[in-house]
Amino acid sequence: MQFNTYTYAGAHIAVWIVNHPAPDAAALAATLREYDVHEPTATPAEVGTLRPWAQRLRVVFEAETIAEKARRADELLVASDCRPRLVSHGPDLPFHFHYAPVRTGIVARVKALTAAGLAHVIDDGAGSRLRACSRPLCGIVFLDISRNGRRHFCSVRCANQVNVANHRTRRRAVFAGPPGRS
Ligand SMILES: [Zn+2]
Ligand SMILES: [Zn+2]
Repeated sequence: MQFNTYTYAGAHIAVWIVNHPAPDAAALAATLREYDVHEPTATPAEVGTLRPWAQRLRVVFEAETIAEKARRADELLVASDCRPRLVSHGPDLPFHFHYAPVRTGIVARVKALTAAGLAHVIDDGAGSRLRACSRPLCGIVFLDISRNGRRHFCSVRCANQVNVANHRTRRRAVFAGPPGRS
């Protein structure tokens, strides 16, 4: 499975937006440029209007079942007025999807692109790879691009914290003795 293609750009950008709920305009533009988004510059006001959208994207990552992820992602396709078109920018340049016309402005395009990205992942049968970190209260989301698809933490740090906590719980259980023997 290829997770680094242009098709998946929207999913990677969705991850970034959810994990950066209050980004500055320059950071957002730099991220969008990394994924070849046209005219990626947004004003601070435009960046601010993406905040509720980030919350809606998050729900897809946090949903427990594929059906729920799909339902939420589908709602985002409608809400963002996502209309895929095949576009080429010159006679010898490759065709690629635009999910909203460039003239609609950066906010509308980011919404359509991120909705399409999550929808593509689910369409590819990889919806379960849209995850939120399993450490309680962490809140970071990610697209699991690991080969076996069994990554459950955003970082080694979160994995270690949970492992240490589980270890302590087990030790306490051992020291307390078997249940019902007091
Ligand atoms: Zn283009
Ligand atoms: Zn985490």
